[in-house]
Amino acid sequence: MELIRLSERVWYSMFEEERDRPCLGYIKGDRWSLAVDAGHSAAHVREFYEALEKEGLPLPALTAITHWHWDHAFGMHSIAGLSAANVRTNQYLMDFADLVRTEGVQKFFDLDPSIRKEYASGEPVVIVPADIVFDDRLDLDLGGVTAQLSTCISPHTDDSTLVFVPEEKVLFVGDSIGGVFPSWEKDPEKAEALLRTLMAYDAEQILHGHGLAFSREELPGILADEA
Ligand SMILES: [Zn+2]
Repeated sequence: MELIRLSERVWYSMFEEERDRPCLGYIKGDRWSLAVDAGHSAAHVREFYEALEKEGLPLPALTAITHWHWDHAFGMHSIAGLSAANVRTNQYLMDFADLVRTEGVQKFFDLDPSIRKEYASGEPVVIVPADIVFDDRLDLDLGGVTAQLSTCISPHTDDSTLVFVPEEKVLFVGDSIGGVFPSWEKDPEKAEALLRTLMAYDAEQILHGHGLAFSREELPGILADEA
């Protein structure tokens, strides 16, 4: 797995289309490190941690979840340290865990072919709640660098969390700039509200779940096009 350095203290792993694996973010503090999103499965987490170890980076003490979608959250059961999610994300995770328990894992696999590919080895699907649940905002001090977790209106889901690292001017937006799964339709009012929210950040680099980092200036065009 390829790890890309965005700034002095921020890295991310490359996304993959085949198994719908999103980019996973990493912020290195002096005292502890934060990951952004847990990934699609335990295998995804393992590969991310191997890439971190290869770079000599400590494993994250906390993993922030940008939204409940499987490809971002279903690796949570195998992360190092703790996880943090907003209250809606946590509820969606629990609801989906109930659905899988009562109706079977096939219900999950049928959502998208990329999910069957991710779990082709027969690894179990394990869905767990977050260790730390917050309402609207959670501020973190990693030592020498901070991270601000904030919920926002998004055309993708109604449980989006943004992660901003002000010292590095890096903003992780998860899939918030996309449309709704699986039609990818985008509510224009929600997209407009999100654009206003994102433009208010003093961010130089913006990273979304399934693409390369881009600049604040590119944001309006990307939000208009991004499926
Ligand atoms: Zn998503």
